[in-house]
Amino acid sequence: MIRANDPLLKSWVPVPEHCDFPIQNLPLGVIKRGDAYHVASRIGDLVIDLAELNKSGLLGVNYVDSVFENEFINDCIGLGKEMMRELRNRLSQLLDERRTELKHNLDLREQCMFPAKDVELSMPIKVRNYTDFYSSKEHATNVGSMFRDPANALPANWKHLPIGYHGRASSIVVSGTDIIRPKGQMKTAEQEVPVFGPTQQLDFELELAFVTCAASNLGTSVSTDEAEDYIFGMVLFNDWSARDIQSWEYVPLGPFLGKNFASSISGWVVPLDALQPFKTAGPVQDPAPLPYLQTNGAQNYDIELEVYLETTRFMPTKIVQTNSKYLYWNIPQQLAHHTINGCNLQVGDVYASGTISGPERSSVGSMLELTRRGSEPLQMMNNTERKFIMDHDTVIMKGFAQKNGVRIGFGELVNTVLPAI
Ligand code: CA
Repeated sequence: MIRANDPLLKSWVPVPEHCDFPIQNLPLGVIKRGDAYHVASRIGDLVIDLAELNKSGLLGVNYVDSVFENEFINDCIGLGKEMMRELRNRLSQLLDERRTELKHNLDLREQCMFPAKDVELSMPIKVRNYTDFYSSKEHATNVGSMFRDPANALPANWKHLPIGYHGRASSIVVSGTDIIRPKGQMKTAEQEVPVFGPTQQLDFELELAFVTCAASNLGTSVSTDEAEDYIFGMVLFNDWSARDIQSWEYVPLGPFLGKNFASSISGWVVPLDALQPFKTAGPVQDPAPLPYLQTNGAQNYDIELEVYLETTRFMPTKIVQTNSKYLYWNIPQQLAHHTINGCNLQVGDVYASGTISGPERSSVGSMLELTRRGSEPLQMMNNTERKFIMDHDTVIMKGFAQKNGVRIGFGELVNTVLPAI
């Protein structure tokens, strides 16, 4: 077992009940302090400035200042999986209720620990490459039924490989960033020619994404067994989508302007190490995948996922309750497939799962599926209804895993939609 994962560990920092950030989590993010950006971690309701902590010498390893005095976590996680495990273990020690080095150093605590509510989280990753998979069988079936043909909803290749496409890295933003309604071309079946204007079918896609902490060489592949060595952690991911733009443009080359106007991520990147206790078996894969896609043991994650929709000035309505354990293709399979042709990985790549949908009507991860493309509107708490996302609506995603009294979560991914410009 990874030492920092011990469910019996307790911290001298109080951790409220139902908090996503116990001593067993210790995620990485980036905080803004004045004009400076520092890499930080989080426990309970406190943020830990790792740049300040590093200067004290208490981290035990002589990290160069620029690893933590940095606008992004890339240089930090780029030290590699082993170094990140060591950093997390050391942080865990310093926060352990039985240890006093940091607990009794009140001056240092004042310099490096402050209430999370007083701190602005910045975009943590300089995203080098972004790939979006399509790993949920339920989602692919639902979308295939609506966009293609209910009788042949899953493409012939779907059960043989984790389908993905290359997305846009430049428009990935952090939680809290407003999303501007995109404009574009649309054409319904009834219209003879396309029209131009703001999308009328703005949607979210509930996803998880993993972030790489090691590069691979062009021409080489990463096996399913090696995949986790290349992955630092995971974020909540909202792959914003304009369904009307998407359905007009996507044949023959796939998603383009219906997707690349924005995707958003949670500000905290949760270490994959911290999620190890929550591994669970995925769906049975039939037919068996080709040898390069085969994995051993439980490779899915039992992470509860929720979406809330807050329409202007009213209480948020919970509209989705699902779980990442439903995903058909797992993370090692995604990374092995991505590199099997020799495609190289870079530090700071983001790989999203694809929309996560479960078997129930309320466990699907998009408005497209929840409302059957607007034909069955959702009722909101304030007696209004929604077919898709309206201007000034706020979409809130949450995710956490829970076992043996330990809850590891991502915090919230929150974005408000503003009118088209
Ligand atoms: Ca997607």
